[in-house]
Amino acid sequence: MSADYVISPPPQPTIAVAGTSKVFPVRRIWCVGRNYIEHIREMGQDERAPPFFFAKPADAIVPDGGTVPYPSLTKDMHHEVELVVALKSGGRNIPVGKANDCIYGYAVGIDLTRRDLQFASREIKRPWEVGKAFDHSAPCGPLKPASESGHPSKGKITLKVNGKVRQDGDLNQMIWNVPETISKLSEMVALEAGDIIMTGTPSGVAATVAGDKIECAVEGIGKLSVTIGPPLK
Ligand code: MN
Repeated sequence: MSADYVISPPPQPTIAVAGTSKVFPVRRIWCVGRNYIEHIREMGQDERAPPFFFAKPADAIVPDGGTVPYPSLTKDMHHEVELVVALKSGGRNIPVGKANDCIYGYAVGIDLTRRDLQFASREIKRPWEVGKAFDHSAPCGPLKPASESGHPSKGKITLKVNGKVRQDGDLNQMIWNVPETISKLSEMVALEAGDIIMTGTPSGVAATVAGDKIECAVEGIGKLSVTIGPPLK
């Protein structure tokens, strides 16, 4: 029986599956806070503290080839290129050894960040949503099914702005690998099919402005290209 909605239900956010006309429905977007040592150093944070999690709304997804309007309120929007993991199943307290069984596939994404607002909220111990969970803050390229890619534990992860390399890391620099991340997150919430996880960024984060063309890649997984557009009126 379908519910008797009082307004139209919102559209289901999706990510394209590479090489097909199919799409993956996005339920939630989780992000890992600090997962590459060089990025922790560039942000001046404690290298021994474990990574932590925050979230973005599912409708923050921007597809490959899309445009991100430069967001409101900020003068310092940063790019963070990340490996995205998409889940086909979930659970609570998933053992590390079972975590890969939950993975549908992988993509390359960008955790766009209003850095000035993130820092301002951090200073006064307020939540991060204003800095992290804004509209269009989660560009994500097509998903490559794990049945094709396997489960990558190494491979270059790069981001270029207007053709210049800004971020150039390797998945093998992750402090917590993907199975450990899934396992840890499943202690905090029950994961489910449709959840995606942005797994943290290597060093080289920097500001991006309207007119920039951003190109990202993860070796063996795929590519993502987005343009930063003028602010919405
Ligand atoms: Mn990030």
